[in-house]
Amino acid sequence: MHQKHQGFDLAGIGIGPSNLSTAALLDPIKEIGSIFFENKKEFQWFPGMLFPDALIQETVYFKDLATLVDPTNKYTFLSFLANKGRLYRFATAGFPRIRRAEFDQYYRWACASMDNLNFDTNVEEVRFRDGCFTIRHTKGTATASNLLLGTGRSPWAPDFARRHFCNTVIHATRYLNEDIDPKGKRVVVVGGGQSGAEIVSQLLTDRRRLPAEVCWISRRPNFLPLDDSPFTNEYFAPPYSDYFFRLPEAERRRQLREQVLASDGISLNVLENIYRSLYEIELLEGRGRVGKLYFDHTVTDLRQREDHWELDCRAGNEISRSLHADVVIFATGFEYTTPAFLEPIREMLETTKDGFVLQDDFSIRWTGPANNKIYVHNAARHLRGIADPNLSLIAWRSAKIINSLAGKTIYKLVEQSSAFDWQHLLPGDPVPSDLLIQYNITL
Ligand SMILES: Cc1cc2nc3c(=O)[nH]c(=O)nc-3n(C[C@H](O)[C@H](O)[C@H](O)COP(=O)(O)OP(=O)(O)OC[C@H]3O[C@@H](n4cnc5c(N)ncnc54)[C@H](O)[C@@H]3O)c2cc1C
Repeated sequence: MHQKHQGFDLAGIGIGPSNLSTAALLDPIKEIGSIFFENKKEFQWFPGMLFPDALIQETVYFKDLATLVDPTNKYTFLSFLANKGRLYRFATAGFPRIRRAEFDQYYRWACASMDNLNFDTNVEEVRFRDGCFTIRHTKGTATASNLLLGTGRSPWAPDFARRHFCNTVIHATRYLNEDIDPKGKRVVVVGGGQSGAEIVSQLLTDRRRLPAEVCWISRRPNFLPLDDSPFTNEYFAPPYSDYFFRLPEAERRRQLREQVLASDGISLNVLENIYRSLYEIELLEGRGRVGKLYFDHTVTDLRQREDHWELDCRAGNEISRSLHADVVIFATGFEYTTPAFLEPIREMLETTKDGFVLQDDFSIRWTGPANNKIYVHNAARHLRGIADPNLSLIAWRSAKIINSLAGKTIYKLVEQSSAFDWQHLLPGDPVPSDLLIQYNITL
């Protein structure tokens, strides 16, 4: 165990799925005292995008808080189903994928029986002195030997959009919060990834509130599906994360660029729903052209006109066009930003232009004592690959963090089998030529 003092061994900031996984796996480990803080009043998993029919992407139900590390943990999804008396009906329903709403329920259920989770508590400042972090939050202070950052990623939109944010120009994550009535309006959705697609699908499905026009803009060369195929899904397993961590920086960048559709492509069921809805609306119901789809287009500006919004777009072929809208939704993704509460110790943290410099145990390299660690979830896409923000690796990452914190193996991380021999693919290692061809690598 790292340096002891009277406070907690670990203070976790943010209670999203990542930190909740660590809390679940810490629950049976009585020798580690931990406390977690969350600014929301209760657990909420992106409530502004929690559409009733939205499905979990690229994951099976046992990519939950704990199963992939310890299936006997009491906070597994199966325990939740058992506790709710749903096991047989769940088994009989045979869902190919689970609804996000059910995982939200599951996460809330897990939160309800842990007594070290503090909601409605915003962390405002973290200081470090004499081997101890002092965490100042809206309800007081706490001290801990180690920190765990689980504050997630922040919605991102271009500056020209952000400065107009209001109830008719929003980021996708606010969609349900704003309770927009799109009926008869011109709605522009910017962004050709999963969030944009889910909103377009929603706009077209509810016929009682059908917009006059749904304009969907993507920078990509079409509205492209998620690559959910088996070899691609190897990117979402620990062996790939470890392989990626050992790659040279330029190679990591290249792989991230090439793998974008493995994490940010659109689920096939959502694409099909959009296509079929447009067919029904425009051809079967004869309502005329409702969908206006622009791929290979970049929105470059947004202006307010007297009673509507005007957007400038530039196409890949240099053609420019202006679009008019009553409601504009930016589904333009997320970025990791260093939490403001770290300001007093920011200078002590090692960073590059891509983000924190992390060690193998997901702690940030810093100039403070080596036995006081600042672990971080969901901030290592540049070092761990496209799966880092995803649910697939949260239990494994939590187990690595807990082992590091304890200074011994609490969770035995059995080396997982992979279809690829990743270690042979590392530059500098002898690489069998058949693997080079399979992976299309030139060394
Ligand atoms: C709409 C949506 C759907 C997704 N669906 C999937 C999916 O199906 N499968 C998948 O693998 N991945 C999915 N993802 C990606 C990923 O699983 C989620 O982003 C996940 O929520 C990440 O968990 P997290 O705990 O790291 O961060 P978050 O869920 O973002 O949680 C961070 C928490 O920290 C809190 N916080 C921030 N600052 C403070 C502070 N100063 N004090 C206290 N609390 C603070 C925030 O309020 C928040 O609750 C989805 C993402 C989105 C946006």
